[in-house]
Amino acid sequence: MEFNSFLREKLQKIKDRDLYRERFILENGVIDFSSNDYLGLRDNPVTKGKLCKKIEKIPLGSGASALISGYTQIQQELETFLSEIKETESCLVVGSGYLANTGLLQAVITEKDTVFSDQYNHASIIDGIRLSKAKKVIYRHNDINDLEDKLKKNNSEGFKFIVTDGVFSMEGDIAPLKEIKYLSDKYKAILIIDDAHGTGVLGEGRGTVYHFGIKPDENLIQVGTLSKAVGSYGAFICGTEELIQFLINRMRTQIFSTALSPVQNFISLENLTIMMRQPERRRKVLELSKQLYEKAKEEGIDLNYHGTPILTLIVGEEKKALFVRDKLLENGIFVQAIRPPTVPEGSSRLRITVSYKHSENDINLLVKSLKNVLESYHG
Ligand SMILES: *Cc1c(COP(=O)(O)O)cnc(C)c1O
Repeated sequence: MEFNSFLREKLQKIKDRDLYRERFILENGVIDFSSNDYLGLRDNPVTKGKLCKKIEKIPLGSGASALISGYTQIQQELETFLSEIKETESCLVVGSGYLANTGLLQAVITEKDTVFSDQYNHASIIDGIRLSKAKKVIYRHNDINDLEDKLKKNNSEGFKFIVTDGVFSMEGDIAPLKEIKYLSDKYKAILIIDDAHGTGVLGEGRGTVYHFGIKPDENLIQVGTLSKAVGSYGAFICGTEELIQFLINRMRTQIFSTALSPVQNFISLENLTIMMRQPERRRKVLELSKQLYEKAKEEGIDLNYHGTPILTLIVGEEKKALFVRDKLLENGIFVQAIRPPTVPEGSSRLRITVSYKHSENDINLLVKSLKNVLESYHG
């Protein structure tokens, strides 16, 4: 068979199952309830103004990987600031959250180790564990008893690692970190938390670890991204001095990939400063999220809400999720339909994310439109 026919057939199968996905450009004026820009920082005018002046003085690209000659003073400042925010000794800034997780897990975990991984962990964690070649044990989502059972039963000669999202990207719920950290200490494991969606939003902006009052120690590693609440691009790993020095020497996605542009790092640094200085941003987004949940409930729509800006309406069928998305868009509202393989089979959903930039009117319009659209659906 010709390669192109092979691809065409595969694509047809995806289409037949209502799983075909397309990129598209969101029109101006549409209210976006799908972005991860929780604090409304991605087009902040203050950062834009500072960038206009700064850009005269800095290179547009880093020119090389950090170990060759791509490391810059701005990246160093960014790493220092992130260490302060996350209360750790040290920090490494890398290209993206995907590169952070795959690189970190491959670098620190060996074949002799065992990794305990939440069922709903992000794809970049799953890929990182595969690259590590370690034994993988999946525990039921946020299920402490299942995790403890599995920690008891799996004794390897190497280290034990527990890996979890802080806030789960497609569920919006928060990992029970206090309990997980307790188990991690009890069974002498190393805990890795991917706080892509907690950073900036929970724990006074410092994230899920701070939210639960957990003090970082040498058996805790925090990962986060600069592309969500921070409204920029790039990611970071925070931990001990030894961990960061080891990653600089051994993490392939950091060694063999060009350092982030100083322009991007400058944006991250400025937006992080605003994030920490303007708590009203996270207060408002959390308040609006709660309002959305309550107003929808009054209209008989039971959204899943966990005290974060990620709410879901699980509709099951792909067809229904697409119907709701397309009809909402006709009303000037965008909520993306999330389908397998991003979420488990039979759990297609609308993933609604709230931002500081939304108004109460936007929330009211969403609830009203959602009600109308759901009532107009007949399998
Ligand atoms: C988005 C996300 C990532 C990937 O981060 P990028 O910077 O977008 O590559 C990793 N982990 C989780 C939990 C995420 O939601």
